Amino acid sequence: MPARLLVGVELGGTKCIATLADETGQVFEQHRTPTTVPSETLPILAEHVDLWCERHEISALGIASFGPLDLNPNSAGYGQVTNTTKPGWSGARVLAEIAGRWNLPTAFDTDVNGAAAAEMHWGTGKGLSDFAYVTVGTGVGVGLFVNGKPTRGLGHCEMGHIRVPRLSGDTASSICNFHDDCVEGLASGPAIKSALGGRSFDSVGADDPVWHGVAHAVACLCHALVCTTGPQRIALGGSHGASTAPAWPDRTTVAIEPEWVSLSA
Ligand SMILES: [Zn+2]
Repeated sequence: MPARLLVGVELGGTKCIATLADETGQVFEQHRTPTTVPSETLPILAEHVDLWCERHEISALGIASFGPLDLNPNSAGYGQVTNTTKPGWSGARVLAEIAGRWNLPTAFDTDVNGAAAAEMHWGTGKGLSDFAYVTVGTGVGVGLFVNGKPTRGLGHCEMGHIRVPRLSGDTASSICNFHDDCVEGLASGPAIKSALGGRSFDSVGADDPVWHGVAHAVACLCHALVCTTGPQRIALGGSHGASTAPAWPDRTTVAIEPEWVSLSA
């Protein structure tokens, strides 16, 4: 029996990716498009989905999007982006615009929960029921699975905005519009850039003081995760994660128990 075909759509802050693959992970087609405004971006993604659904027998569809999202199936706003500072995207009907024409089993979740699910299926979270994926990029996000399922409740996990104690003497300005001392405000890519004061990432060594506050904030986040849901492993990734800024993940793993943490490029 041939492997079932699946369609996946990822909406990121700067680019979106539509993928036709099968359940073994083999990718047949993939298209990237920049994330501009919903009236431009969503029809492009829907066009790929429509084409694949017309040509193939698709078994299921998955959409992982930047948030914040309404993930309550009983809500009138289910499948939409809620209030966001990203221009034009508040109220964008992501699920309906991309998947609404097709009566297929469809999963809709945050981009970080999608990444966490992928790690649990193929990567560093394989075989685990409790797992966290921390991404440090334009923002700081946490994909969080407890007892094999992504956390729900009032909304999805927003632990990137958990407030953390600053290091003594740390006066770096927070880039978060809402909090002076949250992880995203102190450790995201724009926060690191602000702390570098015009220096490039390439010119900053692993022992540079700029990493003190970044590693401290991410370590506090990991500590809070361990103290609350107790993930069996935490993966650190994202565009400013293990691949581009090796100093802070190393320091973070030193600050907490190393065996809990893996670096995900
Ligand atoms: Zn914040």
